[in-house]
Amino acid sequence: MSARIIDGKAIAEKVRGEVKEGVAAFVAKYGRAPGLDVLLVGEHAPSIVYTRNKEKAALEVGIRGRLHRLPETTTQAQLLEQIAALSADPSVDGILIQLPLPKHIDERTVLLAIPPEKDVDGFHPVNVGRLSTGQDALVPCTPLGSLRLLDEAGVNLKGANAIVIGRSNIVGKPMAQLLLGRDATVTIAHSRTADLPALCRTMDVVVAAVGRAEMVKADWIKPGAAVIDVGINRIESADGKGRLVGDVAYAECKEVAGSITPVPGGVGPMTIAMLLQNTLTAAHARSR
Ligand code: NAD
Repeated sequence: MSARIIDGKAIAEKVRGEVKEGVAAFVAKYGRAPGLDVLLVGEHAPSIVYTRNKEKAALEVGIRGRLHRLPETTTQAQLLEQIAALSADPSVDGILIQLPLPKHIDERTVLLAIPPEKDVDGFHPVNVGRLSTGQDALVPCTPLGSLRLLDEAGVNLKGANAIVIGRSNIVGKPMAQLLLGRDATVTIAHSRTADLPALCRTMDVVVAAVGRAEMVKADWIKPGAAVIDVGINRIESADGKGRLVGDVAYAECKEVAGSITPVPGGVGPMTIAMLLQNTLTAAHARSR
């Protein structure tokens, strides 16, 4: 039987609608819109597109979105100065530094300079610690969106065996924490994991966040399992334009899985939606 397709585009739209309503209520209560400030250093072409999309998405739901474009030659000290100014500005609820930063700027130092309460990417160690100790935290957008997809698909996480393939700080580790927080029994797999296909076959929930095109095959999937594909990989296509695929061999896995996300149209659209949600969450937390 073919799996239920988890429609990330539709669910992201639903989240944006919820945020829009939440923003309107916030404005009515506090007389100001939540503010999201996005900082982009340099001319990295995909980052220009991503940051414009973030600003546009913010404006669409009534968030005061603002993109700050800084030249490639910006020094670390200048960037830190800008972050300090935004940190001190009460109209700013969320600060997002678009990664990657130019090589002469130390990413860790910069991310530490964002006050945890304005860290809408959820990368600050205080938020990482809060998430892992079960406290309210700003949680990285991609895993938060992936969890929402599982919830929308009605996947039972309590007591489920879940595997997260990939252990990055941005996706894999926070995803594992979120699943643990929902009472799943969680395995984190990575490039050194022994016999991953056999391990994966025992799992009720599979989250793939690796960055290897179509690595997860149908015979890795337990019949009926829920499969969330975070991967975004460009592969060659017959027309020479290239094609986006995930980390999961979608066509074959959807014949075995119980539910599955496509690429594109699965996790991808959720990331910006959750950034908007995080901005509203941060605005509320700062207004209490
Ligand atoms: P990363 O490169 O930081 O981490 C990849 C992880 O995969 C590592 O922990 C590594 O140990 C593991 N890995 C590598 N080879 C492996 C193998 N053969 N078997 C098992 N594990 C292996 O990547 P990331 O930032 O976590 O991103 C992962 C993927 O998700 C990428 O394709 C990225 O483009 C995508 N991504 C998508 C979104 C989105 O919005 N949908 C957001 C972030 C990342």
